[in-house]
Amino acid sequence: MQTNKNAQCKKCLNKFYQKEIYTIQQFQYKEQPKYKWTLNFFKKLGINEWDSFCEKCVMTYSKELDDAWNNQKSQGL
Ligand SMILES: [Zn+2]
Repeated sequence: MQTNKNAQCKKCLNKFYQKEIYTIQQFQYKEQPKYKWTLNFFKKLGINEWDSFCEKCVMTYSKELDDAWNNQKSQGL
């Protein structure tokens, strides 16, 4: 059993336990935007599906994603 904090958050660079690490793949369960749009959004930020983030950073990205999506909608694109 792995007990070391050997997983690193790509954003804040802090070390975490593997089970405390998240990826943007969890955003595929969001109702909006569609996951394809989400992947494109993060691609522009240099983030892919396999990058590891802590809960705090993934929540930050979740908010950024929602903001970007809402902005885009209000521009009628
Ligand atoms: Zn982090």
